[in-house]
Amino acid sequence: MSHVFPRHTKSVMPTAVRGEGIYIYDSNGKSYLDGSGGAAVSCLGHSDPDVIAAIKSQLDSLDFAHTGFLTSEPAEALATRLIKHAPEGIDRVYLVSGGSEAVEAALKLSRQYMLEIGQPKRTKFISRRQSYHGNTLGALGTGGNMWRREPFDPVMVSASHIAPCYEYRGRAEGESAEDYGLRVANELETELLRLGPETVIGFLAEPVVGATAGAVPSVPGYFKRIREICDQYGILLILDEVMCGMGRTGTFFACEQDDVAPDIITIAKGLGAGYQPIGAMLCTNEIYGAIEQGTGFFQHGHTYLGHPVACAAANAVVTKLTDGGLTKRSATMGKYFEKALHAEFGQHPHVGDIRGRGMFRALEFVSDCGTKTPFDPDKRVAARLKAKAMENGLICYPMNGTIDGHHGDHVLLAPPFISTEAQIDELVGKLSDSLAAIL
Ligand code: PLP
Repeated sequence: MSHVFPRHTKSVMPTAVRGEGIYIYDSNGKSYLDGSGGAAVSCLGHSDPDVIAAIKSQLDSLDFAHTGFLTSEPAEALATRLIKHAPEGIDRVYLVSGGSEAVEAALKLSRQYMLEIGQPKRTKFISRRQSYHGNTLGALGTGGNMWRREPFDPVMVSASHIAPCYEYRGRAEGESAEDYGLRVANELETELLRLGPETVIGFLAEPVVGATAGAVPSVPGYFKRIREICDQYGILLILDEVMCGMGRTGTFFACEQDDVAPDIITIAKGLGAGYQPIGAMLCTNEIYGAIEQGTGFFQHGHTYLGHPVACAAANAVVTKLTDGGLTKRSATMGKYFEKALHAEFGQHPHVGDIRGRGMFRALEFVSDCGTKTPFDPDKRVAARLKAKAMENGLICYPMNGTIDGHHGDHVLLAPPFISTEAQIDELVGKLSDSLAAIL
């Protein structure tokens, strides 16, 4: 009898015992193609010898050193490596153990920054509907998935939400993509004026929305206008790249493709690639400088900040993503993946949209492509697809609530960057069979 507290008390899950390349094997020897890298985590696949060697070698020299007393070589090297590839102005790295921790650090640092620069009235955050920023109370409070928020609403940090940049559903007929982008970006200004711009700390968004809406990139010009508004009203732009960063969309940081530099960026998932739990919050020298010249310390911290073994793993991962060419591979293999998805599902009567960037793709399901009508939530399309795909040896990431937290279904696909064309074909084939079986 298990004593593990599982995610769902009513489901019995297979036991994973081994991972190799893009496959995971259970205790019965069944293989699963990891078509979503778990949840966009395993960018290098499952048995990378260089990352494993880096972890073993680190353990042979130093297991742990508390950052309240000491820094460590792997933490220093990782920060240097990340900054070398970071957007303009980003200069400091705060190393944590996962995505929610990175977002919490970003929220608290932004508030402390406003205090340091003498703007204590700034207490509010604005984010977008259908975003996900993590499950801790601060991160969940800024997130825009109503279903996830509902039970905890009374005990959460509250934030206000503007529309996402979700072209498939939001762009009006006859409206250009650019005009649509400007219209939804301008909602930030409207909301700032409603709240009183002098009361707002920052705006938080995922450059490519992941779990809750399914690989939704913004349209050209959207983030440039967002940056302009943030600058005009003196609020911070915080980009959450926990899921879409680290090469997932074909560039090391996702926001490179939107040609925008934020004040703070959060990363996790692909940073440890599943080999170690690690995340980071990166900020500009201006923000760091305000802390340095002011209080002198960031009033935050966790026991496992900058864990040497996690940092050693992440150093090996980042080296492979950058010098090793795997981010470039995400871009080129991503194009093949996009073509394969269009070839298989382009004419599908229940696939309304195929979207994403690099090795970060999604299909949105509809009952009618012409009217974009979603399936009745009682049909449980996402849940049934997940179960059928597992039966067929495919791990993918279907979700419901795509449109508003309750309606709509999509499947998120985020295979390892090392996938070959044949393996992408295998993923698409297994997804197609699974979809045919449930619809
Ligand atoms: N931010 C984004 C954009 C995410 O997708 C996630 C997780 O899916 C998080 C934050 C939270 O990360 P974690 O689950 O590592 O706490």
